[in-house]
Amino acid sequence: MSDGPLAVVGVGSVGSMALWQASKLGVPAVGFEAVSPAHPRSAVGGDTRLFRMTYRGEHNLYPLLQLAERRWRALEEESGQEILVRCGGLSIGETDGPYIPALLDSIKRTGAPYQILDHAEMASCYPQHRLSPGECGVLDARAGVLRTDRAVLSAIDVARQNGAQVVKDARVREVRELSDGVRVSTDDESWTFDRVIVASGSGSGPLLPAHLQRQVLRKRIFLTWFAARDPEQFVPNAFPIFIRITGDRSMYGAPTIDGSTVKATLDGRGATVADGDTVARELTPAEVVESVDTAQDFFPGLIPEIVRSDAYPDLYTSDSIGLLGPVPGSERVYCATGFSGAGFKMSSALGAIAAAESLGLGPLVDGLDFLRPERFTSAG
Ligand SMILES: Cc1cc2nc3c(=O)[nH]c(=O)nc-3n(C[C@H](O)[C@H](O)[C@H](O)COP(=O)(O)OP(=O)(O)OC[C@H]3O[C@@H](n4cnc5c(N)ncnc54)[C@H](O)[C@@H]3O)c2cc1C
Repeated sequence: MSDGPLAVVGVGSVGSMALWQASKLGVPAVGFEAVSPAHPRSAVGGDTRLFRMTYRGEHNLYPLLQLAERRWRALEEESGQEILVRCGGLSIGETDGPYIPALLDSIKRTGAPYQILDHAEMASCYPQHRLSPGECGVLDARAGVLRTDRAVLSAIDVARQNGAQVVKDARVREVRELSDGVRVSTDDESWTFDRVIVASGSGSGPLLPAHLQRQVLRKRIFLTWFAARDPEQFVPNAFPIFIRITGDRSMYGAPTIDGSTVKATLDGRGATVADGDTVARELTPAEVVESVDTAQDFFPGLIPEIVRSDAYPDLYTSDSIGLLGPVPGSERVYCATGFSGAGFKMSSALGAIAAAESLGLGPLVDGLDFLRPERFTSAG
């Protein structure tokens, strides 16, 4: 006998959104969460994530980001919480490249609105950034900063009001497809559901078939925060999210949320780890030195000393894109995982697509072949 139409394994960034979106389709799903939703050792940790519509080399994400933007707005309306703080976003780099020309090429393919600010305009509008001669900024007015735990907990709250359930402290050990359903097993219990979505982030590997397990790896990503000399300069109205890639240096960050500290973090430092549950939280001396030096050079208004740091896990695919779709060869198991250090901004859309498609409803967005798990099957 079935325990319900749908289970979601992992109630983090994507799983919470799948639970919420399934509940809006009239399907009260059951979420199984190894710890508790939005716990700080998951990819939800660290308070905020960047949301932006403009990306270098990733123009095929644009329809997903458009859907995500609409879903974040819907979640705000349904929960009454501000989740996406719309402070805009700056991409900063050398006008002659390589970053800015490649970014502009991708933006033009999508039709996303943008505004170029030359060196003088950046100095006048955003003096918080100390630019080198030859650098400019590209403003994405639709960008912003997402409040991560608020987003996850709000989605679960709305989903529960619609009949969904969350089982905490339930680490799923096996997802096995049977002839008439899917068995979900923890160490102590088993349930059977008509359909299952695997959305367990860095814990997804063992729940995937062997050929997909070979295509995913867990990474540690650290974050650093600095104190602002004048916090008013770094509030959302004055300081958009930013990503700056200039020469061999890169940093990204967000305005202050707590009124005193500013997230400013080295970009692209994800390091492979064996276990997502035990990532080293301490920064190495080299990470500290490079973070402080870069923040000092980039931001005259930040005190060059790390006041907070931590590290979190995320699951990467071998091509750093993600897995969204039915597990190859399976009728009833769907995976939504492996979003490779970039998934939070899209998680409202990923959850919506996972909920709809796992329930046999049509695709919400066309052109998602680049995310489908089949690409690895055919590659062997
Ligand atoms: C430090 C850092 C900075 C980032 N910055 C950005 C950014 O600025 N913008 C952006 O868009 N993205 C960013 N990302 C990426 C983004 O946060 C992740 O891609 C996204 O949050 C992953 O969501 P998820 O649902 O796959 O995983 P999670 O949110 O980690 O959720 C997985 C959940 O599954 C649970 N779980 C694990 N195993 C099991 C199991 N066996 N049974 C039951 N439950 C299980 C976990 O406890 C967890 O709650 C960043 C990631 C990190 C780590």
